[in-house]
Amino acid sequence: MIRIEEIVDKVRRNHPQADLDLLRRAYFFSAREHRGQTRASGEPYLVHPLEVANILAEMRLDEVPVATGLLHDVVEDTLVEAEAIRQYFGDEIAHLVEGLTKIAQISNASREEQQAENFRKMLLAMVDDVRIVLIKLADRLHNMRTLSYLKPEKRQRIAQETLDIYAPIAHRLGMGRLRGELEDLALQHLHPDEYRALAAQLEARRAEHEAFLKMVTSRIEEKLHEAEVPVTSVEGRIKRLYSVWKKLKLQKIELDQVYDLVAARIVTPNEVRHCYAALGVVHNTWLPVPGRIKDWIATPRDNLYRSLHTSVIGSEGQPFEVQIRTEEMHRIAEEGVAAHWKYKEGNRGTHDDDEAFNWLRSLVEWTQEVKDSRDFLESIKLDLYPKDVYAFTPMGRVIQLPRGATPVDFAYAIHSQVGHTCTGARIHGRIVPLRAPLQNGDVVEILTSPNAHPSRDWLNFSVTSRARNRVRHWVAEQQRAESMEIGRKLFEKEAARFQLSAKKLLSDGDTGFKRVASDYGYGRVDDLMAAIGYGKLVPRNVIAKYLGPEKFAELEERKESRLRNGVREGVQAVKRLIYAGDDSITVRGVDDLLITRARCCSPVHGEGIVGYITLGKGVAVHADRCKNVLQLMVNPERIVEVDWTGRAATAAYGVKLLAITENRTGMIAGITGAISDMKTGIRDARAAISSDNRGRIEVTVEIFDVKHLDKVIRAIRKVPGVLDVERMEGGA
Ligand code: MN
Repeated sequence: MIRIEEIVDKVRRNHPQADLDLLRRAYFFSAREHRGQTRASGEPYLVHPLEVANILAEMRLDEVPVATGLLHDVVEDTLVEAEAIRQYFGDEIAHLVEGLTKIAQISNASREEQQAENFRKMLLAMVDDVRIVLIKLADRLHNMRTLSYLKPEKRQRIAQETLDIYAPIAHRLGMGRLRGELEDLALQHLHPDEYRALAAQLEARRAEHEAFLKMVTSRIEEKLHEAEVPVTSVEGRIKRLYSVWKKLKLQKIELDQVYDLVAARIVTPNEVRHCYAALGVVHNTWLPVPGRIKDWIATPRDNLYRSLHTSVIGSEGQPFEVQIRTEEMHRIAEEGVAAHWKYKEGNRGTHDDDEAFNWLRSLVEWTQEVKDSRDFLESIKLDLYPKDVYAFTPMGRVIQLPRGATPVDFAYAIHSQVGHTCTGARIHGRIVPLRAPLQNGDVVEILTSPNAHPSRDWLNFSVTSRARNRVRHWVAEQQRAESMEIGRKLFEKEAARFQLSAKKLLSDGDTGFKRVASDYGYGRVDDLMAAIGYGKLVPRNVIAKYLGPEKFAELEERKESRLRNGVREGVQAVKRLIYAGDDSITVRGVDDLLITRARCCSPVHGEGIVGYITLGKGVAVHADRCKNVLQLMVNPERIVEVDWTGRAATAAYGVKLLAITENRTGMIAGITGAISDMKTGIRDARAAISSDNRGRIEVTVEIFDVKHLDKVIRAIRKVPGVLDVERMEGGA
């Protein structure tokens, strides 16, 4: 049995200031409470908390989590109450023990539900205080090391759970070494025969592998020395058993075909430039395999892993991998969050500055939305093992993309221009939509058209940041151009009210309008116009700023008197029709704005309406009865007055009506008859019986204006058997 003083020594070495007495007190407490209990192996139970504490001490954690390791099973497995822990060891340790006890509580749900529930608990604990999860992982590691004492059935279940939950979490926390041991142990118990066979196969080649690695590492050392690149160590590694096993399973290949079975690892002193220098040396020594250089230093993985990977061809034609990293990166690759975690006083859990853990927060938020536990577990598994997809151009170039990538991602990976103009794709010669996810090995031919352009919709199914950034940039540019246009129009209208020439103002020259722009913090007049178009600035205020208070007041007075004298404003007099969208609505006093009728209420001619400046889609016109209008009022500066044009509406709009009727035959015929008597078109009519035994007849009628609508509604009301008629939201 490991002795407590060995653990105390380890903690002291890494944390000279640690409260070592805390460890001894925790040890005595645990020893007393677990006295008389034994493990399945027949050993005293105390071995387990001691070993767990030892694993935590080896993670170089301080005395608090290590002491918690000693106490972790006390509340769950003995008569001790949580309150006693608080009394003897304080709030911090009590909090950690409570967190662990919570994870251990088992509900009487189904196996799958339990697993999903465990997962959720682990994630929540992680956000609360990641040390809870580190202790839980140490607990699981020791249980896995001693798994052979349990009955086969229980062994299988625990090993499977380790693969499903604990190893992925260790991976996500960047704890490479712990994850590796968990996986190898799990495989050993889940598939003992396959494990033994594979281990024997690897063992048979060990001498060969070791000789090869020795040759490679000494060659690297020699070359690095010649090039005067400083190096801490050069080591060889053979791929872990579980990784090999999985690769053979997934790719259905033989051991000989696993190209990264052996790898060399160069660890340099803590300066990134040494890594790149070493990479150069490696590439000068052996031929690199194109497309297999991965720079996880420039773009770290989200589990904090950083390293350079490259594959090269050995002198006898055998490819092998070389990994290059600094000492610090190496430590993080092995120990992950345990090496990285910064504890801040009074602030446990994840920290805002740990951007690398953003995935965790989003994962937790998302777990709260997902209800079905089986789905949840499946999707979590996918998310915890993100895999790349390798697709090919027709010319055979490999494009590496994250899982879920679509032809849009592929197109942008080739070239932004290809992305911007893509219209579809052919995979293995078959046409597929742009949103179809790519599979490993797909040969993708991107179809382009010179007139095509990106769509905001692409953001819904592109996953690479490259594609998303390009699309977003394009959409933003587009919106900006439109906002500038809208801003300029609104400004012209306001200027005209003051009898100022917007053209003259905006051409700047000697008018000093550029000064106004820079007063608002905009470099260019165009930016100022865009700000008006976005509704950030009100044109009236911009003009006031330009004129100065006195001049503004004077012109304002003049404007008022003109109005009193019944002089119609110049702009109003030349009110013209709108060029696009809807030709029966104008924005008061402004020409040529893009107008769209809001789909939520589809106002008809003559109704009260309001306009709302949208971002990039012109002015949306809502009926003032529309329930969305209230929300839009939050941004009053974006509300504009709109009018119906004087002329009669030339186009009909679909309006949906609901008639509530008695439940009797012939109702639908009666209603549609009344509508066509009014010379009104019907687009759609359907009938249903409601739960209170009334008829519900929905008709979509073609309406020109609000008077027309009133007449139609009145006509339907007169049909015998009709109890009520109302207008429904929406329309066509
Ligand atoms: Mn335990």
